[in-house]
Amino acid sequence: MALSPLCDGRPDADGERKTSRTGSPGGLAPARRALAVAAGKAARTASRRLGKGNGTTLPGHIALRIDPGALAALLAAIPRGAVLVTGSNGKGTTCRMLARVMRAAGLQPLVNGEGANQLAGLATTMVARADVTGRLQADDDTVGLFEVDEGSLPQIARQVARPTALVVTNIFRDQLDRYFEPGYVIALLERCMRGLPADTAFVLNADDPRVAGLAPELANPRFYFGVDDPDLGRAEPDPTSDFPRCPRCEGQLRYDSVYYAHLGHWACTNCGLTRPRPQIAAAKVDLVGSSGSRLRLAANGPRTALTVPLPGSYNAYNALAAVATATSCGLPDWSFPAVEQVTAGSLRMERVRVADHDVYLALAKNANGYTEVLRAVLSDRKPKRMLLGLNDFPGKQPDTSWIWDVDFDSLSGLVPAPVVSGNRAADLAVRLKYAGWIGTGPETDIAIEPDPVRAFQAALARTPPGQPMWVVSTQVVLRHVRTWLRQQGYVQELWREQSGTR
Ligand SMILES: [Zn+2]
Repeated sequence: MALSPLCDGRPDADGERKTSRTGSPGGLAPARRALAVAAGKAARTASRRLGKGNGTTLPGHIALRIDPGALAALLAAIPRGAVLVTGSNGKGTTCRMLARVMRAAGLQPLVNGEGANQLAGLATTMVARADVTGRLQADDDTVGLFEVDEGSLPQIARQVARPTALVVTNIFRDQLDRYFEPGYVIALLERCMRGLPADTAFVLNADDPRVAGLAPELANPRFYFGVDDPDLGRAEPDPTSDFPRCPRCEGQLRYDSVYYAHLGHWACTNCGLTRPRPQIAAAKVDLVGSSGSRLRLAANGPRTALTVPLPGSYNAYNALAAVATATSCGLPDWSFPAVEQVTAGSLRMERVRVADHDVYLALAKNANGYTEVLRAVLSDRKPKRMLLGLNDFPGKQPDTSWIWDVDFDSLSGLVPAPVVSGNRAADLAVRLKYAGWIGTGPETDIAIEPDPVRAFQAALARTPPGQPMWVVSTQVVLRHVRTWLRQQGYVQELWREQSGTR
């Protein structure tokens, strides 16, 4: 099979493989690295045997304590470099889609597991792929494909010997107590971009002014993606969205159309800066109820239509990000339809059969995420049964004020008898009351049950026989529900699932 270039790790014309920045993949690993990898692997095995979580970070922590250079050395041994995917929302799903495309093109993507998008998590992934002598087990077609937490990007990017592409999906207000305002995240990303090699491709969302305007002075190759469907957009930015200013002059932006939140066709009213023209654009986006979307790509190529089997315009954007990245890597366009094979990630509208109900688990961790998940599920305006959750992390991530930015208001009346859960269930109930979700009579009766498992059982009991039920929540409630579902035998452990399907 003819493979695309992707990076400089492929054999040269004379058949010699170029050596990596931090050592030869074929050489003997130093003893210290071997010890670090062995200790990490032992910790991974032990944590799985003991059932102590899925061991996504502890092995990496241990390995890095023994040999701080272990991660960089293992990353340097990936023959075809690495693609880094970051952003507030959609990075995991974009990676899942891109992994499908890469496999279709004959590559072997080495991906980090869900929840392993910070330094120790990535180290855990790499340790798992090394042998006991500390050498990476990878064939010539292996390419790194890593979802990276925005806050961890500078740290991780420094360790990657050959970053072939940096993908930024979008920048929303997210985890205010950790990242402060979007301006902080923008500064963080730009600092990181300035440290990357000049040939690292930047794959950027043209419709997000915060992303499109990143580090404009850099001459790196840029691949923009966006939506060009005049029938889909609204005239005004989402009222629940925060309004970005011009990335160049801080002037006020004008929108010709808005696809969701602050994503759309924007231009500055002060300096005239406009949205860059995307190389990968969806000329038509048809949202198919609460199940998916159909895209017609404006880019050249034999295949111009894609069916995205995941709901909402946010997943249409994830598909465009995956195709744009594949383009930046020189993958053939006949591999793009592999996006259609993507399955929902754990907690990303994951479907679980419980008794005679289809239950969908959907993570919503910030205002835009929560809004878009609810809109996707309720897009057909047919009432649906739901458990909604809200949790904070006292002392670590105490902020949940963003629920006042979620657009519950326009969905009032579509969720009869909701159940709310989590340690901030009462706050969520107050929010829903202000949004008009709670009235009188059994159909608008809300149940407040902080315990996630009891709340799940209550929500299921409120769901008529045979009907589906959705659990939309922040991380903690969903994890508790999923753990209980695993104990009952309805779903697999996360790590088993990842090793089997990713
Ligand atoms: Zn401007």
